[in-house]
Amino acid sequence: MRKIALHGGTPILSRRFDANYPGALVMGAEEAAAASQVAMHRSPFRYYGVDLQHQVRRFEEDFSAYLGVPYVVGVTSCTAALHVAMKALEIGYGDKVAVPAFTFLATAGAVVASNAVPVFIDVDDRLNMDPEDLDRKLAADPEIRAVIVVHLLGVPADLDGLLAVAKRHGVPVVEDVAQSCGSSYRGKKCGSLGDIGVFSFQMNKIITSGEGGAVVTNDPRRFARAVRFHDQGIFRDKERYGIDSPDEEEAFAGLNYRMSEFTGAVVAEQLAKLDDVVRRMRAVHDTMVEHVSAMAPKLKLRLPIDADGVAGCSFGIQLPTAAEAQTMIAALNAENIVAYLLYEGKPLYLREIYQKRRSAEKHGFPYNYPFKVPLDYSDGNCPRTVDLGARTVFLPIVPTIDQLTAEAMAEGVATVYRVVCMSKSIS
Ligand SMILES: *Cc1c(COP(=O)(O)O)cnc(C)c1O
Repeated sequence: MRKIALHGGTPILSRRFDANYPGALVMGAEEAAAASQVAMHRSPFRYYGVDLQHQVRRFEEDFSAYLGVPYVVGVTSCTAALHVAMKALEIGYGDKVAVPAFTFLATAGAVVASNAVPVFIDVDDRLNMDPEDLDRKLAADPEIRAVIVVHLLGVPADLDGLLAVAKRHGVPVVEDVAQSCGSSYRGKKCGSLGDIGVFSFQMNKIITSGEGGAVVTNDPRRFARAVRFHDQGIFRDKERYGIDSPDEEEAFAGLNYRMSEFTGAVVAEQLAKLDDVVRRMRAVHDTMVEHVSAMAPKLKLRLPIDADGVAGCSFGIQLPTAAEAQTMIAALNAENIVAYLLYEGKPLYLREIYQKRRSAEKHGFPYNYPFKVPLDYSDGNCPRTVDLGARTVFLPIVPTIDQLTAEAMAEGVATVYRVVCMSKSIS
């Protein structure tokens, strides 16, 4: 067996591949031309201008067709989209929202910004929200009024299970697709299966305009509320959608999360490249699954429920212990194969801002509501997240990785695993 780089051997990759910016790596002349068109027509605002080019509208129409969802509104970020989704669902003070324990800050942060509080749900084997724990917590706590499901790093959550549980308890589901744009579940695009879908076009996401986001839904009433919240309570496109939403009765104070025409222009061009980006990442992902399974059959992989639906932006492996995960990370990085623990390997609620229930508000608002069922942010609340988070290693995948590199990465993973975790059984 070759000597691994951690032990002084030559790294299996001669250099680290491009950083984890899938969409930005394929950005080029098309995005430049579209952004230039906005500037040349001096119309950077979506609703009016010197010679409006309707770039945000173009993006919304294209995304609607792509997802098979009738209502799409572009916003400034996915954090904004989550805030908009909460208000579309009339979530606020006195409400709780179920979120996965293993996710980015924004998922739970947007709940707190909406004046509600998050209830953390444990993960399944794939590090996505576990339907059984959701069922348990919804049964125990009628104050939970919505669920935000996250499709973590390209692998869709168990939507069959989660949607059935939520339906049984009568709570709406938001799909947070920030990390998995272009993924699908049993033939339907992620973001189209729940009550509302939210997307991010930030730099690290699958397609990007630097910043940006979208809210999508099949429900005209929720859409009208979403549009109003994102635009100062106004709904300027009523005729476009044929939605009757009289201002006197349905308007309320909102914010400004409007997408600029520059963002719309760039993200529309990125959307045109999405299928190609996903196809290329999925090819790398599937090659790695195939080769690692063959070379290291005992290594547990993070595999999707529906193999055809994965976005392919990451490859996850589960080591027997946290210590072995740490050694694996050091050994893979020595091979020039980027590997890391996501979110420091810990549930979100163990961070100080949740342990101390901190918000931007006075008097402990919104945590000060006299909830009947107390919040539980203790270590033992989501034991599987604590366990799996610390021993699941993620390798980013970008569309510029070629087949040979994918095979070399797979060989690197398998070799390092055999040396690090199975050396006793081999010698
Ligand atoms: C990145 C991310 C967000 C926030 O997206 P922004 O566009 O940066 O606001 C929300 N949820 C998840 C799961 C994310 O990874």
